[in-house]
Amino acid sequence: MKTPARGREEERRLAAFFRDGIARLADRPVRLMEVCGTHTVAIFKAGIRQLLPPSVELVSGPGCPVCVTPNEYLDTAVAYSRQDGVVITTFGDMLRVPGSTSSLAAEQARGADIRVVYSPLDSLAIAAAEPAKKVIFLAVGFETTAPTAAATVLAAEQAGLKNFYVLSAHKLVPPALRALLAAGGAQVDGLLLPGHVSAIIGEAPYAFLGEEFAVPAVIAGFEPLDILGAVYLLMKRIAAGEAALDNAYRRVVPPAGNPAARAVLDRVYGAADAAWRGLGVIPASGLAVKAAYRAFDARAALPVTAEATKNHPGCRCGEVLRGAARPADCPLFGAACTPERPAGACMVSVEGTCAAWYKYGAGRWQA
Ligand code: SF4
Repeated sequence: MKTPARGREEERRLAAFFRDGIARLADRPVRLMEVCGTHTVAIFKAGIRQLLPPSVELVSGPGCPVCVTPNEYLDTAVAYSRQDGVVITTFGDMLRVPGSTSSLAAEQARGADIRVVYSPLDSLAIAAAEPAKKVIFLAVGFETTAPTAAATVLAAEQAGLKNFYVLSAHKLVPPALRALLAAGGAQVDGLLLPGHVSAIIGEAPYAFLGEEFAVPAVIAGFEPLDILGAVYLLMKRIAAGEAALDNAYRRVVPPAGNPAARAVLDRVYGAADAAWRGLGVIPASGLAVKAAYRAFDARAALPVTAEATKNHPGCRCGEVLRGAARPADCPLFGAACTPERPAGACMVSVEGTCAAWYKYGAGRWQA
């Protein structure tokens, strides 16, 4: 359902209404977390931080899939890429993420067969055209992208492909939020929830935020007015002491989400414990390929030994992902770590908090 187009004047009026409303309610320090990397970038791009009173702080959360993928996964992908006859297919933003001692880009430069795809389905064409090769798709992402990866496995089965595999690092947002709030370090007063993840899972999986943690939350879209309006809604809930869940993105997020996408997902994947950068292993926070599709699961069908995991000693990406540190708190930010020469995952992805701070100059005006 499309929103009726607003005129510029109406948009200006609404933005001023939200900005002034937030200012009126900002009578004490408030910390709001935007969970999603797409929100982080949109907030910087639109200059939303500059519209907020100093007492309202926006912190970024664990919502950049590339950033939360731990080194162990990257090291495993590197180990596969070093094997003869293996083709790694991946989205482009995984290439430059540093693993323990290498990256996929470095392995590609050394001759590994690593190909950037725009959809997991592209991997099937490669597998069909090169039957002697083993094609491993790096399945990284949240509930938004996992149904497509699941559909790709089903399509591979239907096509009778015996040389296509997924290396799953899919993750689920609600269990990570539970772990983050239970740990207590983030100290957030309200949450901006990711619109595209919510379009799949709907509203119900977030009920625990209010029930268990008394934290209000708003499912928000990605336009500047969506975000400003969601912050206003959160401020109103906080002022009223209401730990409610609001869906402010109804034009895209039905309350029940997308049951058809979840049905595809549930055929291929089941919940499993998963390791997150910065958050450790969180129970039932990842997606593992079910036994019925074991033949397509790289970990099960093609076991490999990766190198022992090491993290960059100076990188504070884990704390940044928990909202416990700002990029500018990292001594490497903008010096030994830049988008051109990233030392940590949060500086690589376009949705990474460190990359957004660097690109939009937040290190200069907020350090
Ligand atoms: S600036 Fe670089 S090294 Fe520092 S926390 Fe961010 S990604 Fe890690």
